[in-house]
Amino acid sequence: MATHVIRTFGDPVLRQRATEVEEVDDALVRLVSDMFDTMYDAPGVGLAAPQVGVQRRLFVYDIEGGNAPGVVVNPTLSGHRGEWNHDEGCLSVPDLWWPVTRANEVHLSGWDLAGNELSIDAEELLARVFQHEVDHLDGMLLIERLEPDQRKEAMRTLSTRAMGLAP
Ligand code: ZN
Repeated sequence: MATHVIRTFGDPVLRQRATEVEEVDDALVRLVSDMFDTMYDAPGVGLAAPQVGVQRRLFVYDIEGGNAPGVVVNPTLSGHRGEWNHDEGCLSVPDLWWPVTRANEVHLSGWDLAGNELSIDAEELLARVFQHEVDHLDGMLLIERLEPDQRKEAMRTLSTRAMGLAP
């Protein structure tokens, strides 16, 4: 089992757009294995490569009651439908949760490690995880998905925490 340090809010690697994976080599397969270990160890339901400092477009996920753990390379989302407001957290912004409105349904396309094309219709929690992880690949954190008032409050909490004034 090999876990990586999860990069947290303030780390510039979280603010950059990750680049497409062009080839699945041994190093990438190892990275994915380590990302699963890191996600389960945290624990979390999803982890994107930039969260372990790797600027590539891939993420892993495993939600309770879901089919199976999955890895998605070069994901794209389409078919956003409906809205769902639900509490959401992020391993890169630990121990904080906010109600975030996202599409209730999305369609995810991408590839698995074997080069098979993926096509997944997702709703509710799975759709939320997909949107959250693709945001990471675009350099966006959930803070930016908050309403302006919530965001102000969140930034206050985070800067207080950064100064060591609060847990
Ligand atoms: Zn996250």
